Amino acid sequence: MKIIFIRLINCVLILMLGIEVYSQDLRIYQTPLEWNKERDSLTIEYLNKRHGIHQDDATIVPTMVVVHWTANDSYEKTMAIFKSPFLNGRPELLNQSRLNVSSQYIIERDGTIFQLLPDTIFARHTIGLNYCAIGIENIGSNSMPLTKKQLNANARLIKYLSAKYPIKYVIGHHEYGQLKNTSLWKETDLNYFTNKIDPGDKFMKGLRRKIRKLKLQKLPTNE
Ligand SMILES: [Zn+2]
Repeated sequence: MKIIFIRLINCVLILMLGIEVYSQDLRIYQTPLEWNKERDSLTIEYLNKRHGIHQDDATIVPTMVVVHWTANDSYEKTMAIFKSPFLNGRPELLNQSRLNVSSQYIIERDGTIFQLLPDTIFARHTIGLNYCAIGIENIGSNSMPLTKKQLNANARLIKYLSAKYPIKYVIGHHEYGQLKNTSLWKETDLNYFTNKIDPGDKFMKGLRRKIRKLKLQKLPTNE
């Protein structure tokens, strides 16, 4: 009787641990950006002016994930940058697009995943592709390379997103120019483009190895 009881306890423990590991794999902390009327109307304005997409809400159908680094060293600093609905300190862009930058996700250096916006709500993080792309910002920079825990967290998050949405492409921000001459690129000003180095080939190579079973589309080599 005692042995059966201990075995039962073991079974329950294994079951509990299993659930714990499973839920840890997908643990996403919700720290939403405030969605107010200004952010809503600036987003609709951006979709209209920059992407040439005329719609009366801020929704997207995600078919792509763009991976970034923040070029700063903390979640708090990144949230402070994203907080305002208005793009600060770039008056030259005022007539074109006043919407602030943001992303749907931030991943901390220890692999903690924060969600800032729903997956199907627009965020401004990648010229030409925001209208279809979920953005993942990783805390790090050229001098502070992204960590192995971030790599694993990105892979887990992308697998989870691919199960929910028809994700066809996962790209690094530094690769986005390779989509410029495709039908995916939607930017009304063909000269509006900035060269990016985040998150770099090494990180994307490691990430693609971890998500290869998703059978995503390869980037065109048109450059
Ligand atoms: Zn970026």
